Amino acid sequence: MPIKTDVVIVGAGPVGLFQVFELGLLDLKAELVDSLSKPGGQCSELYPEKPIYDIPAYPSIGAQELVDRLLEQIAPFNPGMHLNQQVERFEKKEDGRFHVVTSAGTEFDAGAVIIAAGLGSFLPRKFRAKGLDELVDPPIHYKVTERVRFEGKRLLILGGGDSALDWTMELANIADHVDLIHRRAEFRGAPASVEKVKALAMEGKVTIHQGMITSVLHEAGAFRGLELMDLEKNKCTVSGDEVLVFWGLAPDLGPIADWALDIEKKQIAVDTEKFQTSIEGIFAIGDINTYPGKKKLILSGFHEAALAAFGVQKYLYPDKRQFVQYTTTSPIMHQRLGVESPSK
Ligand code: FAD
Repeated sequence: MPIKTDVVIVGAGPVGLFQVFELGLLDLKAELVDSLSKPGGQCSELYPEKPIYDIPAYPSIGAQELVDRLLEQIAPFNPGMHLNQQVERFEKKEDGRFHVVTSAGTEFDAGAVIIAAGLGSFLPRKFRAKGLDELVDPPIHYKVTERVRFEGKRLLILGGGDSALDWTMELANIADHVDLIHRRAEFRGAPASVEKVKALAMEGKVTIHQGMITSVLHEAGAFRGLELMDLEKNKCTVSGDEVLVFWGLAPDLGPIADWALDIEKKQIAVDTEKFQTSIEGIFAIGDINTYPGKKKLILSGFHEAALAAFGVQKYLYPDKRQFVQYTTTSPIMHQRLGVESPSK
């Protein structure tokens, strides 16, 4: 059975999160979907520890702290949170509602859709090299789902961050051998992990290589290894059975590009009254949208969320009279927020 809701919000970045709040004030229920494993979008994924200086009333706030505060602020509205899944498609039904489907098979029956998808879904950076297309069944992995597959194998792990280091330590225990290949001598991961990986290299369980991958070695369609060019521009080969790629995540517009919306330079065109897209009932806010004068700032996204909430209310209840109520003084707002109304 599809989950019935007023609004599906595509993306749980800072702007998608604040959208829940603005909808909640208007008594509209929202379900959030994000392809990442945690909410927070760019703030949590790209710069969690950096201070932000242009959020009103916070002279300085850490990016992750902002996300934590937003989660606290929307808690009274108890949104559904569907992580690790991408919104893949939707269909507008005759009654104006939307049937929305995610990559995990979650289905929604939503009154409206708000796209707060930022720069797109964060997906693993893909491995590409000469010779890759010659492989019949490329043994290239971007996550470890079945550890047993790697038992007794010669593994080539690509990357220099925490994921590459963690999986090197983990799989060195079960693999025949691990070759860790990173383009630089310095690793980006936690210093303690770097020390442990270096200790495994001393024991001979791991070999550390520095350099760029120039091509894939293959024989009759089967993977044999990788050719590298080291930092002194010498070529060498590293043979192996399986490749695990941990080059981090990069945003990709993904399925949104196929949703028949007006798109200009990878951004969704909206009006500035309601932030509605070219399809009535679908709204777009935050970094994903474009309009004259658009600035990709969290502050702008928050403003867009407030107006989009009224736009959604109008779409769902065209005859309802709209008026702004202050959270300071309105008993209805206090009831929705679950706070006590001050006595007169
Ligand atoms: P995002 O934060 O990009 O979140 C979008 C979410 O949507 C992502 O989590 C993504 O996984 C998800 N998603 C996308 N497509 C799908 C799909 N099909 N299905 C499911 N989920 C999907 N702004 C400021 O105002 N001040 C600053 O000081 C500042 N500093 C910055 C510093 C850095 C290093 C960077 C990179 C950005 C900075 N920004 C700053 C910009 C700010 O982070 C963005 O404006 C903000 O994150 C936009 O929020 P958003 O919610 O629109 O999108």
